[in-house]
Amino acid sequence: MFERLESEGYAVHRSAYGLETAFEIEYSQGSGGRVVVFNAEYDALPRIGHACGHNLIATSAIAAFLATCEAMKLQYRNGPGFTVRLLGTPAEEAGGGKIHLINKGAYKDVFACLMLHPISPLPHDDKFLSIAAGPPGGFLATDDVRVTFTGKAAHAAAATWERINALDAVVAAYLNISLLRQQILPSKRVHGTIVNGGEQPNIIPMSASVDYCMRASSVKSLKDLKEKITKCFEAAATATGCGVKLEWSAVSYADLKVNHPICERFVDAMQTMGHDSVMEMPEQEGLLSGGSTDMGNVSYEVPGFHAMYIIPADGVNHTHEFARAAGSSEAFERTIACASGIAQVACQILVNDDFAEQIKMDFDRQ
Ligand SMILES: [Zn+2]
Ligand SMILES: [Zn+2]
Repeated sequence: MFERLESEGYAVHRSAYGLETAFEIEYSQGSGGRVVVFNAEYDALPRIGHACGHNLIATSAIAAFLATCEAMKLQYRNGPGFTVRLLGTPAEEAGGGKIHLINKGAYKDVFACLMLHPISPLPHDDKFLSIAAGPPGGFLATDDVRVTFTGKAAHAAAATWERINALDAVVAAYLNISLLRQQILPSKRVHGTIVNGGEQPNIIPMSASVDYCMRASSVKSLKDLKEKITKCFEAAATATGCGVKLEWSAVSYADLKVNHPICERFVDAMQTMGHDSVMEMPEQEGLLSGGSTDMGNVSYEVPGFHAMYIIPADGVNHTHEFARAAGSSEAFERTIACASGIAQVACQILVNDDFAEQIKMDFDRQ
């Protein structure tokens, strides 16, 4: 793909921004003007392959990038200056590839960034193709923490009163967090596992650790949740006399900021082409929320767009059934139809100053 595009005049950067598995392909015309980026995800899941359909996301981004460049060449050869980029963004499922790209400046001069994501049919309505504003509960901000409690080891039946059991701190923290659940919003999520609960029953565990993940509807409300959870761990350490160390994940995913003018223009474009496309699906509340994406972090940097579209599948994302569906020709056709929608929006962003101003105003307001 790189060689073919290079031969056709596109600038290709392999291992872009210092990330071995990232890439960037660019087409520019004239000087100045707005920059639009299409994000191409392509990572898969261990053992179940393309069970989140990122093969289709890559396909949609490539198709939209080429369609935008070719349409702009054809229609606006002497028009305003502009730049269109196809950004290969690795490691969405784990690793926060886009966060590394943000930190390396990949979105610095970008006006807007667009992408699509496939999902399985919704339980109450499978006739329409796409939802512009994403799932009803939105994509949530998320963070992970590894917590290690340190006690004092001993034989479990001799002089136990001189020892400190780190597993007790884990149990106390687990209960503290479980009690807290009733006092947090239903949109917030906390889930954890015990990574290390000790060696064997006749040794009082000196060290024990847990992994916890938490999610909330915005970066701000996630901060509030993190403070409460931190107190649960600290209280467990105080009660048992253990030491406690919290190691937060190096990358935390932000919630997705929805840009309304971009969503409206996408729905318009899709409906004009005869596709059943909606802005949002409020009646599906609770069915789709709870996921997270590193596109959320991008949407805090520049106006972002992350529409969901339906492919015929017998299972939801992250299942073998969805992986099978992501390889079907019908999924491919739906992907191309939606790619055409974002290409039309991209052209409008590049040439229509009023539309660009609305996008900017909506972004600044949030
Ligand atoms: Zn996924
Ligand atoms: Zn995904």
